Amino acid sequence: MFISRIFLQKKAVYSFEIFPPKPTADIAAVEDTVKNLSALSPDYISVTCSAGGSGNSRTPEIARMVKRFGVEPLAHLTCINSDRAAVSASLQELAESGIDNVLALRGDRIEGAKESEEFRHASDLVTFIRNSGHDFDIAAACYPEGHPESPDIFTDIRNLKKKVDAGVSHLNTQLFFDNDDFFRFRDMISLAGVDVPVQAGIMPLVKKSHVDRIISLSGAKIPAKISRMISRFYDKPDSLLEAGIAYAVDQIVDLLSAGARGVHLYVMNNAYVARRITESVAPILREINGADDN
Ligand code: FAD
Repeated sequence: MFISRIFLQKKAVYSFEIFPPKPTADIAAVEDTVKNLSALSPDYISVTCSAGGSGNSRTPEIARMVKRFGVEPLAHLTCINSDRAAVSASLQELAESGIDNVLALRGDRIEGAKESEEFRHASDLVTFIRNSGHDFDIAAACYPEGHPESPDIFTDIRNLKKKVDAGVSHLNTQLFFDNDDFFRFRDMISLAGVDVPVQAGIMPLVKKSHVDRIISLSGAKIPAKISRMISRFYDKPDSLLEAGIAYAVDQIVDLLSAGARGVHLYVMNNAYVARRITESVAPILREINGADDN
């Protein structure tokens, strides 16, 4: 099913993001994760891919697994290190696997890696998919604090508008910890004429290894409330877990109260954290979406 249809049916869409195992890793662990996440009845599960060409290889396999567990998959596809032939082959495999939804990404720059002449921006990939002869629903990424390579948020939003106009039906945001950044961004893109639904990307900070990696990789602004939480519980795994879950739930409740069209949870393949958060927010989602039927 196209995810755009889910957005037509629901006021707030709720989904998870997982990453595939390494090429040599045993599939059993991820199968267990997908099974447990599927039992939480998300609207869809997205499966990341790596920016390097070979890294895309397990994404279709895991997307097929998501489908087998009865949940709609969204397959990520990057283009920065690809050419038309490689992208066509990936699209063909996804289509043959019965995958209806693709998240079209440029991918992060890898130092020293040869960059594509054919796909300079994600918008080039969106156009290519639209003209591929396959019938995919296309999602794309957006950045409430601005993409790190952009000189300013206004330039980034102008580029986002080009990407959406190329044929994107919904957007997933980069993770953020201050909801005001999301609300400001939502107003700005609306003024710029970007009118597709935007799902807020929420990353529960529950492990110190994640804290270090995520903060440096995403470049997300760290509000004082998060800094206090991290410095107080950095070496206390049980407390950091509980504090991280509570912070994410608080963020989600605020986003849903303010009419966000959905939440995309970066669960880092942790089904336990996904379950704890989902148990807290599911009644709210039911109430919001149930109101649709009246
Ligand atoms: P683009 O939309 O191309 O934007 C990149 C930069 O180029 C921005 O600064 C933009 O303003 C600028 N730009 C865009 N169009 C133009 C134009 N026409 N002219 C001039 N400048 C332009 N990475 C992975 O490797 N694998 C994943 O699975 C993955 N999943 C992600 C999921 C989400 C929800 C998000 C938010 C990010 C994800 N990423 C992933 C990271 C992403 O690949 C990087 O953030 C990357 O740096 C930008 O990708 P993009 O698709 O947003 O690029």
